[in-house]
This record gives sequence, structure tokens and C-alpha cells, in this order.
Amino acid sequence: MKTKRILSLLLTLIMAFALCIPALALDADPEIRNVIIMIGDGMGENHLKLAEQYGHTLFMNTEYDLRGQSMTSSLSHITTDSAAGGTALACGMRVINQTVGVLGYDPFGLVRLPMSITEVAAEKGMRTGIVTTDKTTGATPADFTVHVLYRKQYEKIGQAQIETNFDLIWGAKESTLAREDVEAHGWTYVSNRDEMLALEPGSRSYGQFSGQLWRPNNSLTLAEMSTKAIELLNTDNDKGFFLMIEGAHIDKNSHTSDGIKMDYDEKRESVVDAVVGFDNAIRDVVEFAREDGHTVVLVTADHETGWIFADIHGDMRFHSNEHTAHNVPVFVFGNKTLFKANHAVPNYTIPIRLARLLGWGKDEFPRARDGSLIKRGPEDASPGDVDGDGDVTAADARLALRAAVGLERFEPGSAEFLAADMDGDGVITAADARQILRIAVDAEA
Ligand SMILES: [Zn+2]
Repeated sequence: MKTKRILSLLLTLIMAFALCIPALALDADPEIRNVIIMIGDGMGENHLKLAEQYGHTLFMNTEYDLRGQSMTSSLSHITTDSAAGGTALACGMRVINQTVGVLGYDPFGLVRLPMSITEVAAEKGMRTGIVTTDKTTGATPADFTVHVLYRKQYEKIGQAQIETNFDLIWGAKESTLAREDVEAHGWTYVSNRDEMLALEPGSRSYGQFSGQLWRPNNSLTLAEMSTKAIELLNTDNDKGFFLMIEGAHIDKNSHTSDGIKMDYDEKRESVVDAVVGFDNAIRDVVEFAREDGHTVVLVTADHETGWIFADIHGDMRFHSNEHTAHNVPVFVFGNKTLFKANHAVPNYTIPIRLARLLGWGKDEFPRARDGSLIKRGPEDASPGDVDGDGDVTAADARLALRAAVGLERFEPGSAEFLAADMDGDGVITAADARQILRIAVDAEA
């Protein structure tokens, strides 16, 4: 009884202290102007191990400042596809598989068109770019540029892309897009390395390249494209830039089936090539970021492809030709507070964390296209995670306690309310806040 009272008093004291603690991980960093998200499509933890077994020391896996994992599920499926996986990373919101930047199923009347981080960046006057080894209309580049109900509407995606005001969109050629049409919308159309290298800052360019952009020894590589894109976006514009770079072929090459498209070792080699081509781009991008000092680089994947794990001899082998629901790696360069080291965070919180780092408020991102706030629905509630950032921290206890004393008001049934009401009695009280703080303290210990 006595111990209980002492514990109770101690928790009350900690709680009083917690009231003054801001959410550390989601503070703005005034030094950060530029954000670069790099997505290794389909890149799981064991893709890295596979490349290492082939003798490659990966820059991303040795030089990072912060490492963790992303939980990749979509709104509709435990195993996401690239469209929904990329939308979570682009729009800060989980959607249904196959949809691109659209919430097709909206029973809570939340929002249909969540704005992408690229769109908000452009609205804020930042320069914006998309670089991929995939076709420019592939699911991932589409997620960061347009909104369509189905990822295979390539013609619609291409048309919508050329109507955007982004600074550059580069990838492999999309056959439904005509050069004249692209140029008529004010873009410089570039189709090879020389044309790309000749671009000057201030131009807006749509890149339609041929060749295997993912190969580390191709005539045009992802690393070269990334370096040139940064040169074009990093003008003296003090508003900074946002750039998404995708290594799409880690996924594509992991999908090929044994004995159908290529033999097994050839498949593994092609996947390793794609990982190395992506890693080379990361090395060059981070080299820029470190010199610049105002750039954060986040590397992750939308999902794992191929169910790679070690066989009885320790060799990394594919066990599927499809996506899996495994957590994927997240590496951060240029920041150590975006999330707690070695922890897994839900995929959709990643762009939200980056937005907060840039100082964007809750009313700015995530948000619907019409400017209204995105309300999280009950299905998003995770016990104790009141602010929805994927971690239970003292900041969540603080919010719950503020709600208990009437300083915050959460709609009954909202994600915040459900997350704060730990004992489920329909009222948020100090007892709920105390339970949250216990979890937070345990997690810190
Ligand atoms: Zn994918």
C-alpha cells in the first residue's frame, strides 16, 4: 500500500513535469531547408544482406545517422502495393491498395484527396523534383505528383503530371506521352544524358530516358540523375527544395520468377545491381547533404518484395515473387531525432515527421486538397499514441492529461480520444494519462 502511494506520488510529479515537455521528435529544425526522400522500392532488410553477401559494403547501411524501420501496411491490406505504400510516404495517410493519392473508401467523411508533400512544398515556394528509374508514370512517382483512383491509368497520370507546376519529373519513357504535348505545357523535354546535363537552373524539365537507369554501369545512372537534379533544385532560393528519388528496380527485379524470366542467380545478381545502383545515388546525395548542412535525407522502402531470408547455409534466398508485409529499413542522414533509434514507425508518419522538421504545422500537412484538416478516424487509434506520431511518449501523456483537465478537447470517437482513453470507460481522466506515462517511461528505460 505504502509503495503504491509512493509510486503514485512519483508518477504525479513526473506527470507535472511531463506537462512542460514538448514532443521532442516532432520539433522544427531551423537549420533544415531541404528534404530528400529516397525510396528503394521493395527494399527489405535482407536485400541489404543479399548485396553484402555479394561483396558490397553499402553506404546506406554503414554511414547513417539514425536507423529504424517502417511498418508498411496499407488501409486495405496488411501487405501493401506500391501505390498505397507510396501514398503513405507522400501524403501522410494510408489508403487502399492500387489507389494513388486518393482515399477511395471514406466512411468517416475524412478526405478524398490528401495533398502530397511535393504539392505542399511547391505551394510554399520550395523547388520540387521527382527522379526515378521507373517510368515517370509508375506508381511511386505518381504518388508524389498526382491523384488517380487506379495506378494503371498511365495516360491520365502522364497528363496530370504535365499539368503540375513541379520543377522536374525524370524517369523512363512513358509511351502515351507525346513530346509536343509535354513541351506545350512549358516543360523542357529531355531524352538523354547530354540533354539532361545541359539543363540550367530555373528550367522546368520532364525527363523521358531510355536504357536501364538502375544499372550502376548504365550510360545514365540514378546517381548522375540525382546529382544533376540537386544542382537544378538547389538554387539560391532560401525556401529550399523537396526531392523524391526512387530506385524502382529493387522491386521489379525481385518480382521476376525463377525459371520464367531469368535463372535464379541471374535474378539475385540483377537485384543486387539495383540495390548498388540505388546505394550509389544515396552516397552522392548524402555527400551533397553533408557539405550543404541544411539538408535531411531519408532513405526507406514502400514494402519488401521477395520474402528474402537465409537458407540453411546462411545464403540469402528469395521465397516469393511477391510483396510481403515485413518491416523495411529507414535510414536518416543529417538528423537524429526524427524518431527513436532502432524503433519501427508506421509508414504514414514518415512524411509527417519530415514536415514537422521543416516547421510545417498540423493545419498544413497532412491535409486535404481543399484546405480542410484531415481528421484521423477511429481505425487509426493506437492506445496511448494520442498525437498519432507512432510512438507513445511523455508528450502523449501530457495531451491526455490536458484533455483530463479540460485544456484539450477531443471529439468522442476520434482517433485522439480513443488513443487517450486507455481504460475504455468513455472518459479521459488522469488515470488514463498515468497509464500512458507508464508506457512512455518503460519505452525510454
Ligand atoms: Zn513498391
